[in-house]
Amino acid sequence: MKNNHAISSAPLTKQIQTILDRALESHPPSREECRVLLELPPDSLEAARLRATADFVSRRRFGNQAILLGQIGLGTAPCPGDCLFCVFGQSHTAFRQAELSLEEILQRAHSFAATGDLFALFLMTMHDFELERLLRIIEAVRNTLPGHTQIVVNIGDFDLAQARDLRTVGVNGAYHVCRLREGLDTALDPAVRKKTFSVIREAGLDFYYCCEPIGPEHDAEELVEQLFLGIEYGCFQHAAMRRVYVPGSPLAGRGRGLGDARLRTDAKHRRPRTELTRSRRRGQRGLCRDRRESARHPS
Ligand code: SF4
Repeated sequence: MKNNHAISSAPLTKQIQTILDRALESHPPSREECRVLLELPPDSLEAARLRATADFVSRRRFGNQAILLGQIGLGTAPCPGDCLFCVFGQSHTAFRQAELSLEEILQRAHSFAATGDLFALFLMTMHDFELERLLRIIEAVRNTLPGHTQIVVNIGDFDLAQARDLRTVGVNGAYHVCRLREGLDTALDPAVRKKTFSVIREAGLDFYYCCEPIGPEHDAEELVEQLFLGIEYGCFQHAAMRRVYVPGSPLAGRGRGLGDARLRTDAKHRRPRTELTRSRRRGQRGLCRDRRESARHPS
């Protein structure tokens, strides 16, 4: 059968070889080098070498281990974030307001953590959230989880006083992203998203970041900008995630995000975790999961 894809088997260029050799010596690629890497055809020999190098560097650095994460959505509602890539956007959603009871949340938290392997439990709200209710839930969840399991909030924008309240009741970190084309494909202000990054750091919370939601329309320049935003703000964890659309949603016409090959290429550009991260991981046991495509909503 004829293969329609012309797979390039040209030898590595000197530039790509140099970037990969430096990565093996623990020198991360620059912005410009990342742009070059992201423009490699996903089915080329060079992209395959890039993925293999990224996999090797990551496994060596983290002792062939990863971390297990879980998430509970505390409720759903038509969301004023109105992201065109999200099923909950208020201008197009079919979802009505609904909340899990505290009993259901605690039961789910217990199920996630029962084996003792869970590194962090993410608690997710829509962009809007009621702080008092959230604090009560977190306190109760904290008392349910083993001491080594972290709590990470995945919520809308918040200020420093709210961040400190969250920390006081047991939150360890926050997942927060200035999404690709924030303000164009969403109703949220990129400047406010970035302000929340600073708040997270100032409150002493771990800042979880991700390059997302990646679709076929995003070019290397955009991806590099978004990748480095997380690094500039001192993220605790970096990731890459493709966009997966629900049929009929506003961005469905743009198509699905990256194939596995290019996604792995993007994920290579993770900032290595900090010493703090590694020391926290010492208490972890066992299983790991790649979170490049987690089911969380991209707040
Ligand atoms: S991605 Fe988050 S902020 Fe955007 S509409 Fe969905 S729930 Fe709201």
